[in-house]
Amino acid sequence: MKEREIKHCLECGKELLGRIDKKYCNDSCKSAFLNRKYRVANREIGRINRILKNNHKILSDIIVDGVYECSTRELFIKGFNFDYFTSLDPQAPPVMYCYEIGYQINSERVWIITA
Ligand SMILES: [Zn+2]
Repeated sequence: MKEREIKHCLECGKELLGRIDKKYCNDSCKSAFLNRKYRVANREIGRINRILKNNHKILSDIIVDGVYECSTRELFIKGFNFDYFTSLDPQAPPVMYCYEIGYQINSERVWIITA
């Protein structure tokens, strides 16, 4: 007969009794373990979401309707972060999207495209 391997709670290290697939001794240990595991990832997701939200607000504020043009400098001054976008349409030049708002950068000019 195979002897049962002794397992310990991933959070507090206490010996686990009961089901063989158990990883934590209780729900609070499970929450504590998973909160710590995802804390760094959630912080980074929050930081990027704030950048995208800010970019979206800047583009939304510039748009009157249809297609609008501005300078890259104007976006830069307003705090636009050119490193982040939600999707990319690989045309020449490529169309970057911040959610539903597209924009194309052609040298110093930015063309904003809305649906
Ligand atoms: Zn525990």
